[in-house]
Parts: sequence; structure tokens; C-alpha cells
Amino acid sequence: MDKKVVAKIKKELLLRKKEIEEELRRFTEEDQYSKGKHRPRFINIGTTNDDNAKEIDTYTTDLSLSKVLESNLEDINKALQRIANKTYGICKYCGKEIGEKRLLARPVSSACINCKSKLQQSA
Ligand SMILES: [Zn+2]
Repeated sequence: MDKKVVAKIKKELLLRKKEIEEELRRFTEEDQYSKGKHRPRFINIGTTNDDNAKEIDTYTTDLSLSKVLESNLEDINKALQRIANKTYGICKYCGKEIGEKRLLARPVSSACINCKSKLQQSA
């Protein structure tokens, strides 16, 4: 792969990583027992049944959002690792190049379009 393109993608990945980490920090705390995992902060709204229901609602929404952000972050970290290992841009299934266009559109891709569509068909 073109080094310039990889450098550009790396820059974007690092930027996105920072954004996600900031977003996570905004409403979660890192789980002290499992690294890289986050727990939403519990927001105390009030003491009535209604308030309690709202608190649980907020927590549930935050929890699913934090899971999405965590998995995005994981994808980004894996992509950055592949860049460091110089295996970035190579399909993990067939070993062929993923293609610049696809990587620019979706920098965390680890499979080429052929393998991806085969996987989706069999799923
Ligand atoms: Zn492939």
C-alpha cells in the first residue's frame, strides 16, 4: 500500500480514537477491574418511581451507547495495530490487498470486498 495513504488513514484513525475516548469519558468511567471496558455513570434524577424509571432508562441507553463506542474503539485499535505490524490493508481471509478505495471509505476494514460479501451471503 501507498505509504502516504496509510499515513493519512492513520492520522484519521488517531483522531477518531481521541474523539471516541473523549465521548466515553463524558458519561462513563473506566472499569477498574477490566481494562478497556467502561461503565456509564449512574445519574441520580430523583426518588419517585417515575424518576427511578428514568434513571434506569438513561443508564440502559448509556450502556448500549458505551458498548457501540467500545467496539468502534476496538476496531480502530486493531487497525492501528495492523498499521504498526505492516499488515494493514491485507485481507485477513484471503491475504490479498483490500483496496485503497474501500479502506478510505472504511479505514477499519480487515477483509476485502469479496470475502466480506461471501461472509454476508453465508450468514
Ligand atoms: Zn479477501
